[in-house]
Amino acid sequence: MKSAWRLVSAGLAAAALCGPALAQGIDYSKIEFTAEKFGPNLYMLSGSAGFDPGHPDAAGGRIGVLAGPDGILMVDSQYAPLGPKVLAAIRRISPAPIRILVNSHIHIDHTGGNAYFAKQGATIFAREELREKMVRPVPPAGGGPARVWDPAGIPTVTYGMGEPLKFRMNGEIVDFIPVRAAHTGGDTIIRFENANVIMISDFYRNFGYPYIDVGNGGSLKGMLEALDLTMKLAGPDTKLIPGHGTIINRNDLLPYRDMIRDVQTKVAALIAQGKTQGEVIAAKVTAPYDAKVEGGLLPAAGSGTSADRFVAAVYQQLKGAR
Ligand SMILES: [Zn+2]
Repeated sequence: MKSAWRLVSAGLAAAALCGPALAQGIDYSKIEFTAEKFGPNLYMLSGSAGFDPGHPDAAGGRIGVLAGPDGILMVDSQYAPLGPKVLAAIRRISPAPIRILVNSHIHIDHTGGNAYFAKQGATIFAREELREKMVRPVPPAGGGPARVWDPAGIPTVTYGMGEPLKFRMNGEIVDFIPVRAAHTGGDTIIRFENANVIMISDFYRNFGYPYIDVGNGGSLKGMLEALDLTMKLAGPDTKLIPGHGTIINRNDLLPYRDMIRDVQTKVAALIAQGKTQGEVIAAKVTAPYDAKVEGGLLPAAGSGTSADRFVAAVYQQLKGAR
């Protein structure tokens, strides 16, 4: 597993690995954006390191920007308070109108700025399932009330599990590829065909164990399917860009998928022995991977460690499937 998390300070390592629904403890005033180029007119924006306890390497979720005379297409919109700074970072790339915003999934580090960018003129695209969860939100797993979404930020153009949506603009072909319930129930992969780049959102992560957000419709089966689909879509040189963490390629997905399958097999065996969720978590089935998974044993909001949260989700998914 890739573990290139360079900038985790001791203080941050001790901080809670929050669920993305929890954005407390972030000093937004300190966060700045840097752009990295991935094609003639394709950029990824990342927030500063060290200010977001849930994402110590770079605050919030990564943003994709395809710029050019046909207008700007952006992927994800960051935490709400960062909207003006994201816009400033886009304006350093291009003065073109912002036309299209697509959400890779519902979490607020990827959708919080939706209303701000809708007001800039963007039409927001997302899976129908994502819109449903905004219109009828669920309470977060860590407790507390359900989020109330700004109506201005709710996607207006939605799609289901059919063929990818294709956009031809700025010399690029962009595919919005729906994947079945994985990290959440409304995940989309965004592929830039000419740049040979695929944004894979959060069903892959290289900090902490996989996060299956069951409350928002995520599933173990779907996560494995999404990884298999990505391996099919990607060539050996395709850059895979997760929502957080380091850029990877197809080969990096293999150990990650195998780890998930191994944990799945071990948890299934314990369930067959009649073990409870608590007993399965106590069995520490992730132990062979803990040294390799950066941040894997950090606390996850309301769920023990990130390993415990993952194992609990696998248990619930397998138990529910019986
Ligand atoms: Zn997420």
